[in-house]
Amino acid sequence: MDGVRYGRLGERYREMLGSRCPSCGAEYFPPVRVCRRCGGRGTKDHPMPREGRLVSFTVLNVASAEFQGEAPMAIGLIELENGVKVMAQVVDVPPSSLREGMKVTMVARPLTKADGAFLCYKFVPAG
Ligand SMILES: [Zn+2]
Repeated sequence: MDGVRYGRLGERYREMLGSRCPSCGAEYFPPVRVCRRCGGRGTKDHPMPREGRLVSFTVLNVASAEFQGEAPMAIGLIELENGVKVMAQVVDVPPSSLREGMKVTMVARPLTKADGAFLCYKFVPAG
């Protein structure tokens, strides 16, 4: 990993780019080079689906310095439509309205309100 690749300023970073094994079809995020299911080494870049469901979540009432002013903030475990699970911030919804199983959609947002240059994947309620 280098700083440029994870600068996330371009269109490339407006999606969650994972990988897919052409031999067995297993999908991964973050991407892997060697398939953990079949051991195949030919995985290819593959975008993850934007839709998923909230499996579980927690609410942070005390934010770190970088996230000052954003508490309470929700961190969710999301299962994407392809079965891949990711952890991410859930935004645009009061934490008290979150429910396990609710449908969510990935959006690319600045990591923090203070630094709009670094895009990060987050999730919002679907629909
Ligand atoms: Zn495989």
